[in-house]
Amino acid sequence: EQLSVRVSFTTVYSKEKGSASTIVVLQDVTNQEKLEESRKEFVANVSHELRTPLTTIKSYLEALEDGALEEPQLAGKFVNVTRNETERMIRLVTDLLQLSRLDSNQAIISREVTDVAEMLDEVADRFSFQLEHRQIAIAIEVEPDMEEIMLDRDRIDQVLDNLVSNAIKYTPDGGSIAIRARCPEPKWLEVSVQDNGIGIPKKDLNRIFERFYRVDKARSRSMGGTGLGLSIAREIVRAHGGTIALESEWGQGTKVTFTLPYTLEEVAL
Ligand code: ADP
Repeated sequence: EQLSVRVSFTTVYSKEKGSASTIVVLQDVTNQEKLEESRKEFVANVSHELRTPLTTIKSYLEALEDGALEEPQLAGKFVNVTRNETERMIRLVTDLLQLSRLDSNQAIISREVTDVAEMLDEVADRFSFQLEHRQIAIAIEVEPDMEEIMLDRDRIDQVLDNLVSNAIKYTPDGGSIAIRARCPEPKWLEVSVQDNGIGIPKKDLNRIFERFYRVDKARSRSMGGTGLGLSIAREIVRAHGGTIALESEWGQGTKVTFTLPYTLEEVAL
């Protein structure tokens, strides 16, 4: 790895001794530079992600103006595209706002008593239409006699929704998804979402939680993705004091596992 060093020279003159000495300070600024680099990359990404739908919307509006308005069927299609693009932009901005709140520690985690089996059943219910439409089977396996847990229900629902919606997006019709919950050790809950979909190539695995990192940008976009789902999931799980990890085999499927501690504390991030 490359090291960035800032060098500064200070010369001190001494009248009495009639001498001059120079102090050289070497400062390791590798981390600062990395941070600055990733900040720049993030801003460039955000701009690009907002610009793309805007360009699309503009060109469809122009086409409507240039005559498509006179053809009701075509006009309907074009209006649909602009609405979809607008909705994606709203999702993107909402995701960005949420990330920024999580980053600046303004998000308060407010825990409530939660029944794990019930929570997972409800996730599956929220996706039942899509699952049926794509003929994807879903199985929920919860260890018996699981204790209730204190968690921020809205936020953990969001984690689960992101993971299940990814599992659906990246699994072909007729595939299957399993959501499992267990206690791998006392006072820890582990939840995993596994699919048998397209999987993720090895080379992309260690960057997959980065903001806007996507294996296939075009595919993710066409599925309505913002490229922020996994990073938000990671921030929320971390805010609960938990961990999240992803395993995947290209062409075989993907499994995302997160853990949450059983805690009664109200934790401000
Ligand atoms: P997106 O909105 O693009 O889905 P995410 O942050 O949720 O953004 O995921 C980042 C990328 O990780 C996706 O674009 C996709 O390439 C990959 N990915 C996430 N979940 C899965 C999965 N279950 N199967 C295959 N690839 C996945």
